[in-house]
Amino acid sequence: MKAITVEPKKPGTARFEDIPEPDVHEGSILVEAVAVGVCGTDVEIVEGKYGWPPPGKTRLVLGHESLGRVVDPGPTGGFKKGDLVVGIVRRPDPVPCANCAVGEWDMCRNGQYTERGIKQIHGFMSERWRIEPEYAIKVDPSLGILGVLLEPTTVIAKALEQVALIGRRSFWELRAVLVTGAGPIGLLAALAARSHGLEVHVLDRMESGPKPDLVRALGATYHSTSVKEVGFEPDAIVECTGVGQVIADSIQAIGSNGIVCLTGVGHGGVVTAEACADIAAAAVLKNNVIVGSVNANKRHWYRAGNLLARADRKWLSGLITRREKPESFQHALDRKPDDIKVVIQFSEV
Ligand code: BGC
Repeated sequence: MKAITVEPKKPGTARFEDIPEPDVHEGSILVEAVAVGVCGTDVEIVEGKYGWPPPGKTRLVLGHESLGRVVDPGPTGGFKKGDLVVGIVRRPDPVPCANCAVGEWDMCRNGQYTERGIKQIHGFMSERWRIEPEYAIKVDPSLGILGVLLEPTTVIAKALEQVALIGRRSFWELRAVLVTGAGPIGLLAALAARSHGLEVHVLDRMESGPKPDLVRALGATYHSTSVKEVGFEPDAIVECTGVGQVIADSIQAIGSNGIVCLTGVGHGGVVTAEACADIAAAAVLKNNVIVGSVNANKRHWYRAGNLLARADRKWLSGLITRREKPESFQHALDRKPDDIKVVIQFSEV
């Protein structure tokens, strides 16, 4: 079968090639790929900056934002031929640490977790893949290809849960949320926050195109200014850009007792000790919490599934701005200014 593979940490090694059919040890459910979303992590892996092959192998099958159709449900029951499914990305570490032991692999403490398409387990960018029943999530069939948005939605389900949990440390009324970055994660954060009835503001560089329209369609406010100029004091900021300046501005702009939740992964820049002290002083004097959030456990997959199932299909369709064929995966990885979510489509839904 065909797959998109890469030699992690070696730029320029990605290719669309023949690989053996998935081994039954990878899971009792056999799935035919429908689509796989492309995200910044995939781009980083292809650029040779991130990623690990399975033990004893040099190449990794890419892709962690899956959607597929069950071809053979295997012996365990619960799934049937034709079900639309998405695979959970992370697997607990083998030790396991306390968090992995209780199913919170997203909070793994020893770093020995594995991740499909990212860290030591093959991903989903192959014509067929296998999955263990306990890591397969059934998708509302009426979502069709929009089910490919489930994995990025889980990242937001976790981030917002973190904000809500931290908010309980004091008397705190969450009213106005600022989301920085109107990419897929930012827009899904806005969708989730609006579904909780919150006042939502989204900030992005783009002044026109689909992003402002999608934000306004949610009943949220769009800003193409800097964080300093949004003109209100957010109770919570969900940071989805990973850009140093936006992060620093967010930490300065957050309201008293507010929470800045970081979901973007950026690189580079030098922080002076003085700048660090200023950031810390702002946080101390306003009782702020700056929290990082990565990945998701089953609770978040469940919540994300519910959010997508209830969401307006037309609005969700607006997030998928481009579909590419597997053989054109390089085009899928090239980011265009109006791209929101680009998917590689392996078969029709
Ligand atoms: C994925 C997460 C993963 C993280 C770090 C993200 O792109 O959505 O599931 O934990 O990368 O590898």
